[in-house]
Order: sequence, then structure tokens, then C-alpha cells
Amino acid sequence: MSNTLQRTRALAFVNQNGCCIYCDKPMWLADPVDFAAKQRITFKQARRFQCTAEHLCARKNGGSDTAANIAAACLFCNQHRHMRKAELTPEQFQFHVRKRIARGGWHP
Ligand SMILES: [Zn+2]
Repeated sequence: MSNTLQRTRALAFVNQNGCCIYCDKPMWLADPVDFAAKQRITFKQARRFQCTAEHLCARKNGGSDTAANIAAACLFCNQHRHMRKAELTPEQFQFHVRKRIARGGWHP
């Protein structure tokens, strides 16, 4: 990842108060051990909450690395959005994730 993208991701992280744009759970940027201790979860569980740069419009669809196109998403949500056969828009995916959370079925 380029330094610029890293900075943009860090900026998005701060703007979103350290929470994932999709699941709204707290994320970590640099220290999973400290995060796991604070959240009272295991190191393995903490890995999925790593802050990633989410391209709202995907690179393959021409999305750029500019701040307007980058949001902070946890690794789990980011991977799942792009694993779907039919890719949802960020708004659709956020709706999907929040619905799953309401039913207790997103982050195991
Ligand atoms: Zn998330």
C-alpha cells in the first residue's frame, strides 16, 4: 500500500472515530495486542478488526485512492463485501451488515 493511501486510511479512521463504516465496531490501526486486551477478546478475534482502506468505488471499477473514495472498514467487512458474487453498493452493503448484526449474526 502506498504511503498516501495509508495516510488517507488513517484520516478516515480518525473521521469515523475508529469505527468500521459498515459494522460500526471499533477497529485498530497498529496494535492488535493492545486492542484485544481493551476489547477483552483474543488476538485471533482481534485480527478481523484491523482497519483497512475500503474503496467505496472499487479500483476495478475505476475507483481512485482519493480521500473521497476511501473509507475505513474492518478487514472482515472489507473482505466480505468483495467476496459477494453480485457486489453491493456501500449503502446496500452497510444495510445488509447492520441487518445481520441486529439478528446477532455478523461477527461471530
Ligand atoms: Zn466492519
